[in-house]
Amino acid sequence: NPPNHWSVLRKKVQPVDKALAHFDDFYKQVFQKKWISIREGLLSKQKYVAVVNNYGDSEETRVQLELNGALNLRILFNLEKDYIKEELQTHSRKKLLDQISYLDRKLERESQKVSLKENEDDLLNSSIDARECSLQSSLNSADIDYTRIIDSKNALSTEKLNEFVPATEIKGKEDFIFESTHYKMFDKHLNIYCYEKDNKTQFDGATKSSTGVTNYYLMDGGSILPVLALDLKPGSKMLDMCASPGGKSLLALQTLYPNLIVTNDISHSRVQRIKSVFKEFIYDFDENWLKSGKIHISNRDARFIEDKIFDRILVDVPCTTDRHSLKENDNNIFKPSRIKERLKLPELQAELLFNALNIVKRGGIVVYSTCSLSPIQNDGVVGMALRKLWEETDYNAVVKDLTPALLQTRSVYNIAHPNLVKLGHLVLPSKSQNYGPTYFCKIQKI
Ligand code: SAM
Repeated sequence: NPPNHWSVLRKKVQPVDKALAHFDDFYKQVFQKKWISIREGLLSKQKYVAVVNNYGDSEETRVQLELNGALNLRILFNLEKDYIKEELQTHSRKKLLDQISYLDRKLERESQKVSLKENEDDLLNSSIDARECSLQSSLNSADIDYTRIIDSKNALSTEKLNEFVPATEIKGKEDFIFESTHYKMFDKHLNIYCYEKDNKTQFDGATKSSTGVTNYYLMDGGSILPVLALDLKPGSKMLDMCASPGGKSLLALQTLYPNLIVTNDISHSRVQRIKSVFKEFIYDFDENWLKSGKIHISNRDARFIEDKIFDRILVDVPCTTDRHSLKENDNNIFKPSRIKERLKLPELQAELLFNALNIVKRGGIVVYSTCSLSPIQNDGVVGMALRKLWEETDYNAVVKDLTPALLQTRSVYNIAHPNLVKLGHLVLPSKSQNYGPTYFCKIQKI
C-alpha cells in the first residue's frame, strides 16, 4: 500500500499515542485510582487564568474581567483563609464543650454542686476569644505565619488533620530537612483572575492599553504557583534559568518587586521569543527596562552560569510536558528520534537545579518546577540535586513545606496528597479544574 493509504495511516503509532501508552503504564502505578480523572483532564481542554498587566490599563481591565464573571484569585484565597479560621473555631468550640462536659462529670462525681452551666458561655467565649485573637493576628498580619495553623492542629479531629496538614509528619520521615514555610501566598500587586470549578468559560481576547501594551495574558493556572513560591521581595535579584517564552518572568515583574531579572534560555530562537513577549506587555521595554539594566536577557546554558548575585532562582526545566505530549505530534519528546534526549532529561534537570543551588546566595530561594507528573523528573531530581550539593559542596539547603500556605488555594487547585509527592507539591489536572500538571519545590540555601 502507498504510505498515505488509510490502512497504513491508521496503523501508524504517533508520538501522542506513544506518550499516552507510556503514561498509562507508568502513571497508573503511581496515581492508581486517581489516574482516571487525571488522564481525563490531560486529554481535555486546559484551563487558564488571566494575569492583569500592571504596565497596561490595569484598573479598567480588572473591572472588565469582573463584569465577565471572572474571580480574583487573591480574594478567593482570602475567603479560604476565613473558612479555615471558621473551621478551626468550630473545632475549638467542640473541644471546649467536651472539656466542659468532662469537668461537669468530674465535679458531679465529687458531689460539688457547682452549676457550670452559668459559667459555660463565659468560659467558652473567653477561650475562643483568645484563640481567635491569635489566629486573627497570624492570619491578618502582612507576613502570615501559617505555622500557627499547624500549632492549632490539636484542635482538629484526626480526619481534619489528614485533610489539612498531613505533610509535615510524613515529610519529616524523609532524609531531607524540612521547614514549614510561612509566606504570604499572594502579593498585593498581583491580580490574577480565574473561573470557578466546573465553569468552562474562556477568557476573551485581551485588549490593548492606551500605551499599546496588551492588558492581560493567559497562563495555565498551575504555572503561577512556582513564581508565588519564590516569595519575591522588594529589591530581589532574580534569575529565570530556563525562561522562554517568558510567562513566569513576566509574572515576577507584575509583583513590581525585583530590582533585577535575568531571563535566560539556551535556545537563541526562544530568546527572541522572550524579547517579543516582553515588548508586547511592557511599555518602553528597550529604553526603560533593558537600558536601565533592570531586565537582562541572556542566551546561555544555565548549567554553567556562574554569577553569584541572585537571591531568587527559578529553575523551570525542560521536561516531558505531559499535556503537550498528548496533543501535538510535532517536535514531540516521545518521537523515536528524541528517545535519548527524553531519557537524559532527569540528568539535565538535576544539573540545572544543582547549579542553581550552587550559585544562589546564602538565605536565597530556589524554586524547581516542571509541567510533568513524573516522580523521577520531580521529587527524584530534587533528591539527586540535593545529594550532589551535600556531597560535593559545603553548602546546605532545606526543602520548604508549603502545605500550610497552600491550604488557602484548595478551592482553586487540586493538589496531590503528600503520600504521592513527598518533597514538592503537584497540581493535578482533572476535568472540573483543569490546571497543571505543575510540580514545584521550594528550596532555601542556608
Ligand atoms: N519558564 C518558561 C515559561 O514559563 O514561559 C518555560 C520554560 S520551558 C518549560 C523550558 C525551557 O528551557 C525551554 O525554553 C528550553 O529552551 C530551555 N532550556 C533547555 N535546556 C536548557 C539549558 N541547559 N539552559 C537553559 N535553558 C535551557
